[in-house]
Amino acid sequence: MERILNYVNGELIEPVSGKYLQNYEPATGQIYGEIPDSDSKDVELAISGAEAAKDSWANTSRQERSDILIKLANIIESRMDEFVIAESRDNGKPEKLARAVDIPRAVSNLKFFASAILHTESQFHEMDDIAINYTKRQAIGVVGCISPWNLPLYLFTWKIAPALATGNCVIAKPSEITPFTAYLLSKAAIEAGLPKGVLNIIHGLGAKVGAAITAAPKIKAISFTGGTATGKAIAEVAAPMFKKLSLELGGKNPNIIFNDCDFETTLNTAVHSSFANQGQICLCGSRIFVQNGIYEKFKKAFVEKVSKLKVGDPKQSDSNLGAIVSKDHLEKIKYYINLAQEEGGKILTGGQSPQINGRCKDGYFMRPTIIEGLSYDCRTNQEEIFGPVVTIMPFETEEEVLKYANSTGYGLASTVWTNNIHTAQNMAEHIDAGIIWINCWLVRDLRTPFGGMKASGVGREGGNEALRFFTEPKNVCIKL
Ligand code: NAD
Repeated sequence: MERILNYVNGELIEPVSGKYLQNYEPATGQIYGEIPDSDSKDVELAISGAEAAKDSWANTSRQERSDILIKLANIIESRMDEFVIAESRDNGKPEKLARAVDIPRAVSNLKFFASAILHTESQFHEMDDIAINYTKRQAIGVVGCISPWNLPLYLFTWKIAPALATGNCVIAKPSEITPFTAYLLSKAAIEAGLPKGVLNIIHGLGAKVGAAITAAPKIKAISFTGGTATGKAIAEVAAPMFKKLSLELGGKNPNIIFNDCDFETTLNTAVHSSFANQGQICLCGSRIFVQNGIYEKFKKAFVEKVSKLKVGDPKQSDSNLGAIVSKDHLEKIKYYINLAQEEGGKILTGGQSPQINGRCKDGYFMRPTIIEGLSYDCRTNQEEIFGPVVTIMPFETEEEVLKYANSTGYGLASTVWTNNIHTAQNMAEHIDAGIIWINCWLVRDLRTPFGGMKASGVGREGGNEALRFFTEPKNVCIKL
């Protein structure tokens, strides 16, 4: 049994209650560890450590803060294997994916914001010979960062890196379903020399630890990534306290494919954008709209490719898909596959868990699933499934597909495949989403604004957006 600990005021400690939760390995269905079942008392301890540290950290030079974050990034990078194996075991994702994407991106997040704070500019407004204004951006103080299970260390560092870089002290809560790499990070933070109290990591349930972070008056800002219902619950508590809120929530992203697309690139990327990380990426394109001229050809080629994907042990290098993150989540995915059939959908491939022998025989697996024959406005096409399940539908005109694309409550990301610049621009202009990819998917420049509209969230992360979120602007006006 591997028992992990909270990271509070510079030390790894047991939860105040002394209670622990069980941690499952999704690929085997077995319990392999214990995580603190923390509550508001642990959050209070962390807040007092953070309060004591906040002035000193805010006044630490940018260079010094940057150096510590770079050191932290380098420690993670030097332990790539340990982090990769831990992330895959905790989440069920293939080790090769954690090695190619998750852990390198966590390292990049830390390095990016460590560098960004050395290269910021301040605003200065001149009023002829009346006055000058300069705008300072100061750390907020103590902030909360709450992250989900799908990209555990990747999204955890995407929040804590800008928060720490801008001089805030952080109370962070990773998902209780995938806490392990955040624990490894807390050990690395101690080694990197992060002063005590600057970063605190409290493990446990959302309803206890997340709710305590949300309700604590001394936590002045919350950066949250997770489900839309949780985001709403957080906003209901935090908004009347006038906390700054950044909410990165669910999605139901359209993947729009026109007759004139580059067929092979579109096909290969569509396989990836549908099923990477078992479809558990908020940016996956779960509704595929294909123009009539190539609908049958695309469908045939797509089904053929997808049915050859191997679902298996995340440790094996030839597994394209690993395990679904939890038993509950697998049940949710099965529920939607049944619902799709009740709604008149036809399963073209997948729809069932594969038979896996050996170590993974009791794991939570699902074959990549493609469903045809549903209307754009049925529940399967409106609600977030967040698994290896996509629907495929034909369309004829730009106007028609825009109606389909914008029909959901969500507005996170969208992908458009066409060689016609006018079509591409028309789509980019009218799709309600915070991120539009034209002829690509998941190409990420960390300087660009990241986030969604409608029920996909409030605010943006990334680059200057994150630096602004984690600071308070203060305008200073000097009479000449
Ligand atoms: P979730 O909302 O269940 O949990 C996210 C985090 O919030 C966890 O750490 C959880 O413990 C905590 N939490 C739960 N209840 C809470 C409460 N009442 N108060 C405070 N915190 C609470 O989400 P999940 O199942 O972990 O993640 C999947 C969801 O995340 C999907 O909807 C997905 O689309 C979304 N997501 C969005 C983005 C994005 O950038 N927009 C990225 C990744 C995932």
